[in-house]
Amino acid sequence: MEALYKHQIDFISYLQRLLQEGTFTSTYKFAFLHALADICIEKEIPDNGRLVISFAEIVDKLIVLYWQHAMPFNEELPTGALLQSTDNQAKIITDITELQQNGIRNLDQAKQSPYWKSIYRNTMNTLKQGPLWRLQVLSRQEDCYLFPHIKNRDYIELNPGIADCFRQFHDLVVQFARQGWIEKVSKIQQNQSVIGRAGELSDFLFGTSRNSLKSASLVLKDIQQGNCFYCQKPLKGNAEVDHFIPFTKYNNDLAHNFVLAHKACNNNKRDYLAAPVHRDKWQEQNLVLNTSQITRELANYFVCDPKRTAHVANWAYDIAEKNGNKFWLATKDVFI
Ligand SMILES: [Zn+2]
Repeated sequence: MEALYKHQIDFISYLQRLLQEGTFTSTYKFAFLHALADICIEKEIPDNGRLVISFAEIVDKLIVLYWQHAMPFNEELPTGALLQSTDNQAKIITDITELQQNGIRNLDQAKQSPYWKSIYRNTMNTLKQGPLWRLQVLSRQEDCYLFPHIKNRDYIELNPGIADCFRQFHDLVVQFARQGWIEKVSKIQQNQSVIGRAGELSDFLFGTSRNSLKSASLVLKDIQQGNCFYCQKPLKGNAEVDHFIPFTKYNNDLAHNFVLAHKACNNNKRDYLAAPVHRDKWQEQNLVLNTSQITRELANYFVCDPKRTAHVANWAYDIAEKNGNKFWLATKDVFI
């Protein structure tokens, strides 16, 4: 047990050093760190504790993370998008902007489009020339604590125990990465004149698109036959789409993670995980009975990946049980 604690403290200390001693001229390193944390909870960790992550997986994830950032923020900026690098606009942003201007709405559509080859190649180059190895350069010296620096491979292999630490401290890593990311964006001179309050920037860069939630609402209303997922009573007019695994724990929108609930039920659940009885029902509703309907109807708006969604749920419940967290059962603060 002591060895485990030592390992976890080392991990956090390394993370602190990384953010303090690393140099960041663009936001790529924050995105890469965020990507690693997300991938570690979206996959199963092998028994030997060494998670292998292909460069292709990282490229996909970077594109998803930057997607919202490439949207127009203010027309006074050269392309409307916030700058993500001190020198020129980050290549990934101009590439995604081009996709968006051609009506492409998500990663899946991008992969099927004629633009994919070039954005994939560009992002791969950026990854290899930048954050992949530079992330672990602290005070100008390489310290490969997360994964060894081995050339001529198209994947990285996390050192033993690192994936577990990313799973244990996912919220913390993501918070660190986002904070650094937001700070970097807000310090770039050309952005400064158009940025208002910090809260707005955070919502813009990391919030959920409200429009897409409407389409989720329609599908779920049909699946749940007009009833609230949690209390089973008729929804009438006050339905809200709820992230079953709360958005604060895992801030990506996966279509199979949504349920429809009363505003009151949703508000009362807040950022808690729902009780295991709800989890069983969610699994049956979204990952067994209606999996293909959800994919069919929401693939234009959200990432549809039932397997990944199941992994994320396993991760969230494992950590909550390990930490002795309470689970939300019903409105008026009923917990178990
Ligand atoms: Zn309800």
